[in-house]
Amino acid sequence: MKILEAKNIVKVYGKANDEGSTTALNGINLSVSEGEFVAIMGPSGSGKTTLLNILSGIDKPTSGEIFIEGQKLNEMTGDALARFRRRKLGFVFQDFNLLESLTVKENIILPMILEKKSGPEMEKKVQELASLFDIEAILNKYPYHISGGQQQRTAVSRALANEPQIIFADEPTGNLDSKSSTVIMECLKKVVQELSTTILLVTHDVFAASYCEKVIFIRDGSVHSHLEKKSDRKAF
Ligand code: ADP
Ligand code: ADP
Repeated sequence: MKILEAKNIVKVYGKANDEGSTTALNGINLSVSEGEFVAIMGPSGSGKTTLLNILSGIDKPTSGEIFIEGQKLNEMTGDALARFRRRKLGFVFQDFNLLESLTVKENIILPMILEKKSGPEMEKKVQELASLFDIEAILNKYPYHISGGQQQRTAVSRALANEPQIIFADEPTGNLDSKSSTVIMECLKKVVQELSTTILLVTHDVFAASYCEKVIFIRDGSVHSHLEKKSDRKAF
């Protein structure tokens, strides 16, 4: 089943046809099925971040349509959009964006508080995620007292707190050495395999993309090519 569909997405920064305007996306079509692990790759300036921001409702396209679970994301605004993003979408950022003044547990709980979940429900979810990602022992520590790998696993746990349908990840291995890159990618693989959550990631990193079943290459704001892994899930 299709979970995300983008139709003819165009993004122009600045006024169209003005000298200073930039056409960042030039008619992108793509579709992602439920439970897929997809990478968007392309050179710097090709439009990857713009595309991710538009697909996740952070930014609006100049024209085109985005459907998530059949709902038209590009026509949602204000509270309805904020609520939709909180409930259906999870985000993992390059630098993780953990709140330093909150413990690991509080960081994971925060999105659930915003959704007004009950105490026992939040407690159950924290324990479930902590066990899945092996962070039970550090739940009461602050981000600056835990390792980089533990911070990553906390960030992924937080992204999963409200049981999103799709996780968006922008350069999750961007600032990491190869050992930490392996930690985060194994973690995301577990999310796809054990929770069947769909993941869409933007990356420069061939190592990160090698975890994905499908790679979409962007060049100058257009889809240049697709690559799909064979169904044995082992290699391109
Ligand atoms: P990538 O993520 O592949 O590096 P981006 O989506 O960041 O590409 O950028 C695509 C193009 O759009 C680039 O030419 C960039 O300079 C331009 N761009 C991105 N964001 C803005 C913005 N907020 N205002 C104007 N131009 C932008
Ligand atoms: P990335 O390589 O991850 O896409 P960039 O360094 O291209 O990151 O962009 C970082 C931020 O700056 C993004 O939010 C992007 O939208 C914005 N940006 C990029 N290019 C421009 C530009 N020409 N004018 C204004 N903002 C820009």
